[in-house]
Amino acid sequence: MPSVAKGRYRPFWPAVIAEDHPETLHVAVELFEGASAGVDLAVVPVDATAPAKSYAKRLTLQRLHQAGFRERVLRAYRQCCAVCRLRHVELLDAAHILPDTDPRSIPVVPNGLALCKIHHAAYDRHILGVRRDLVIEIRPDVLAEHDGPMLRHGLQAVHGQALLLPKRIDERPDPGFLEERYDAFRRAS
Ligand SMILES: [Zn+2]
Repeated sequence: MPSVAKGRYRPFWPAVIAEDHPETLHVAVELFEGASAGVDLAVVPVDATAPAKSYAKRLTLQRLHQAGFRERVLRAYRQCCAVCRLRHVELLDAAHILPDTDPRSIPVVPNGLALCKIHHAAYDRHILGVRRDLVIEIRPDVLAEHDGPMLRHGLQAVHGQALLLPKRIDERPDPGFLEERYDAFRRAS
């Protein structure tokens, strides 16, 4: 967690501003490989007296929070997709259960799922849903389709399967978050 105390953050480096979108007040920060590895819990204060600078810094920190979120979620799920158990870290994401756009969506492990790229996209597009009892469902119209092996093995075959869970109970998906997201999946079905 980059935030270690109120107004104090754990620095990650080296990092560069990879994209700058002044029209939307948005920047993308790229962390170099291994940026967070072996970094001690040094802290830096956030300068609240310089609004513009502090806003830029806040955006940067948001991105860094996301990087920390990914790290924690993938560790909890033992670097494994919770749906298909794929173990290629470069193909894994930390998906949010309550969507990132929801103001209540916080970067904590119980609001995350380690998913491979295809299952992350399927979850975000409501093609794949996860019930409160941790059973995976595929949208009925997608279940009825006929196509090649990715549809058959990657999506249709996971319907009715149990989600892979973190060993630690306090890192497992929040049932309330799951239910809310599953309701959105059902509405899209
Ligand atoms: Zn997967």
